Amino acid sequence: MRNTHPILDHIDHHRDDLIGLADRVWGMPETLYAEYRSCAEHAQMLRDKGFALTENVAGIPTAVMGEAGTGGPIIAILGEYDALPGLSQQAGIAEPHPIEAGGNGHGCGHNLLGSAALLAACALKDWLAETGTPGRVRYYGCPAEEGGAAKTFMVRDGAFADVDAAITWHPDCMTRVDDPESLANTRMDFTFHGRAAHAAASPHLGRSALDAAELMSVGVNYLREHVPQDARIHYAYLDAGGPAPNVVQAKARVRYSIRALHLAEMLSIVERVKNVARGAALMTDTTVEMQVFSAVSNNLVNEVMDRTMDRVLQEIGGVPFDTADHDFARAIQATLSPADIASPYRGVAQIPRLDQALFDGLIPLRPGGEKMIGSTDVSDVTWAVPTTEVLVATHAIGTPAHSWQIVAQGKSPAAHKGMTHAAKAMARCAQMLFADPALLAEAQAEHAARLAVTPYICPLPADLAPPLQPRPTPV
Ligand SMILES: [Zn+2]
Repeated sequence: MRNTHPILDHIDHHRDDLIGLADRVWGMPETLYAEYRSCAEHAQMLRDKGFALTENVAGIPTAVMGEAGTGGPIIAILGEYDALPGLSQQAGIAEPHPIEAGGNGHGCGHNLLGSAALLAACALKDWLAETGTPGRVRYYGCPAEEGGAAKTFMVRDGAFADVDAAITWHPDCMTRVDDPESLANTRMDFTFHGRAAHAAASPHLGRSALDAAELMSVGVNYLREHVPQDARIHYAYLDAGGPAPNVVQAKARVRYSIRALHLAEMLSIVERVKNVARGAALMTDTTVEMQVFSAVSNNLVNEVMDRTMDRVLQEIGGVPFDTADHDFARAIQATLSPADIASPYRGVAQIPRLDQALFDGLIPLRPGGEKMIGSTDVSDVTWAVPTTEVLVATHAIGTPAHSWQIVAQGKSPAAHKGMTHAAKAMARCAQMLFADPALLAEAQAEHAARLAVTPYICPLPADLAPPLQPRPTPV
């Protein structure tokens, strides 16, 4: 297919190098602030492609930034490269088969996410130099999107303070501009401390931390009726006090995720959950420690940025999958339930159900349908600068996020086509902003107007540092 704009030829020029990067990162899945090798691969690629490198962005050793160009506005392209635990899986097969039992895997496609963002940055670097356009492109390699809120810490540290606009993407099963909403989310640990005792001989001397954690769950379950409909509260036991039923459990720890459509609402629900925890401690004569682990904001939409990205999608069309791509996707779909396959259509009311396993079309901007929203640390960047995020088809329709099926498709030819397409969309969108100062100014005016109504409040406690992981010792 012929490209519709010269900048897209630059994508084709660098494509194979960046597909190589995506495949290498797929093969070294690292999680939550331990992305040392993946970050080093991105840093090396930035050096090889001639970017000026900044390592240790915001004091995070697995965050990296590369810049190219001179003068003019600064446009950030955001990438990620963190994986998920427990999703080890071989590539290119349509059956569950871990490479390493219990190992990590790229179950959210971030191997593609980071590489495509860097590919877009390479094309923009070339285009800026070739045309003499004043402007700088920055690639931000952002770790720990999965639960670590690295971008929120980076925003707090001022990493985007001089940026004019930001663009990112995410692998998906349908190609479109992302929804305008996401949920603010606080992850918080509650640790109850009681007193151990023999559970049969002297239970009157024990004070059960596990009882406290369970009563907290009961209290939170009653709270659910009295929070806004979009709010979500879920929890996981990190420590239930040990395996012995004949011991009164002296310690228990539970992690909560508390989400809402608006930051202020979320912060209010967090306070109410904390009161439930205090109540549970009071009832059981235990004590409770409360510690925020990470937090992200809801998304601040920018209609100018989203409409610009949508114009780009209309221009470049859908991802050009071939028959072999469709065949593999069909095999993956055979492992999914009918409900899985129907699920993406619930969020796009304007699209009829298609008899194809890969989506090669485009979903219109704001397609209606049921809201199915999660949380992302991209949202904190949306409060710092006008931002747009495009979703691009890289896997079979209905593939659940965070599944072995995503990992299995993570370095397929379809995934490579999707990531290349995403890079084209981001590069062309940034190029339109560089070339049209009035368009960029319009996006920034919208951003300022929204902030004037609702100022940004960083959702992180002031004293909270990112939960960094030590650099692994070489073997
Ligand atoms: Zn993701």
